[in-house]
Amino acid sequence: MSQKQTSIMVVDGSEVSRTIIGRILENEMNNVSITSCANAEEALEHLGNWERFDLITTSLMLPDLDGLDLCRKIRSSERHHYTPVIVVSGDADSRLLREGFAAGVTDYFDKSSGYKAFVEFIKSFLQRNSGLVGKILYVEDSPTAAAITRRIMEKHGLKVVHVTHAEQALELLEGVSNGWADKEDGFDIIVTDFFLKGKLTGGDLLHAIRTRFHYSQQEMPVLVITVTDNQKKQAEVFHAGANDFVTKPIFEEIFIARIRSLLLIKQQFIALKHQAEEMSRLASTDSLTGVRSKRYLLDNGKRILTTCAKKQQPLSALIMDIDHFKRINDLLGHLTGDHVLAAIGELLNQLFPDDVVVRFGGEEFSIIFSNIRPEQAMQHAEKLRYEIEALSPANVDVTVSIGVASTLEYPNADITKLLAQADKALYAAKERGRNRVCVARTEGPEDVQALAS
Ligand code: GH3
Ligand code: MG
Ligand code: MG
Ligand code: MG
Repeated sequence: MSQKQTSIMVVDGSEVSRTIIGRILENEMNNVSITSCANAEEALEHLGNWERFDLITTSLMLPDLDGLDLCRKIRSSERHHYTPVIVVSGDADSRLLREGFAAGVTDYFDKSSGYKAFVEFIKSFLQRNSGLVGKILYVEDSPTAAAITRRIMEKHGLKVVHVTHAEQALELLEGVSNGWADKEDGFDIIVTDFFLKGKLTGGDLLHAIRTRFHYSQQEMPVLVITVTDNQKKQAEVFHAGANDFVTKPIFEEIFIARIRSLLLIKQQFIALKHQAEEMSRLASTDSLTGVRSKRYLLDNGKRILTTCAKKQQPLSALIMDIDHFKRINDLLGHLTGDHVLAAIGELLNQLFPDDVVVRFGGEEFSIIFSNIRPEQAMQHAEKLRYEIEALSPANVDVTVSIGVASTLEYPNADITKLLAQADKALYAAKERGRNRVCVARTEGPEDVQALAS
């Protein structure tokens, strides 16, 4: 769902209040536009100009009109009938309790709680009430019904894509789920007429959404429009996988309230999905170096190797260990050691963006190169050794020793065994004087420089 600008109208007789409220809202919220009005007349002028507001706040006592009367006027206007109105009053007025609901006050805020609390209140209010952003796939075969219903949805700020047949709706959904269409072409919810003229009914469409696309009621909420008030038929609609239904002729307030609650379900689904993705990203990324964690390699190593094996592509595993890293820590401090590790992680990500770069241990890194010949892997290793020598992270001269092993040399090894072979080669590189690359061979590790000469 897209992030749109929030526009708020603040009506208050006191210039000081208006300025403070406006300033705090602008500072504390992203992408907000504030319209300040000193009295009801100014407010009504803006509203009469066909400007749209997501929220209106008004004090109870305005110089020219009672705040509740302003609210009544807003409610009786066609365009702003649904705009939330919050009364900001100096004390929780008993009048609000008695008359607020009838006047159409959405909520009220007690100004004595302070301006800071006011901003928190507004933010949480908008979070709770900004359900009406979203894109709707609307399926309706009757042109008259479609024109009316579409106008209602658009009036409430919803984007609507209208089709007349279930077949067309399925085609659009197919495009999104197969990735033919852009992500922006996706829909937040679906509103469909139950009786359609094509071969497929709204029920068939629903069935396909749930079983063919495997969309849950949370991922793709569906609101069904029926003509019947037969309860058995209505139960059928739920059985087919609808989240909710409305009956024709559509009653605007009920229709919009149902859409709002489905959009909230969708928003929660998206928020949860993002949270889960973020958690899995965090679990698979090493925070100091920014490369993948060992956890990631343990979870995915087998799959990566199998994928290459199936395609009959060779794969190489590389292990790299910083030379005399303990000395860096001992001489320059652990913090400098950390900087060195972070800089090396950044370099690795930069040099090998398409390969699996892993922090294998404290100052050891591993890289899995898919679809690569052993000679190429050795070239990568040499380049890496050279680049690190030239890097001088945190003004420290650093060298590394590297071991490489290819599945061409060890065709039957699983990922652990291949890494063990690379580690053996690394050990040889250390033994032979460090700052060098060794490659694992069945007959014993071989120096890469020696190969080159
Ligand atoms: P060699 O050339 O044989 O590899 O010598 P070395 O000193 O690098 O090897 P050794 O295994 O003895 O030391 C590794 C050091 O890496 C020990 C440990 O304190 C340090 N180390 C491990 N993780 C971190 C870390 O996250 N930050 C810092 N600063 N040091 C770390
Ligand atoms: Mg119909
Ligand atoms: Mg080590
Ligand atoms: Mg080391």
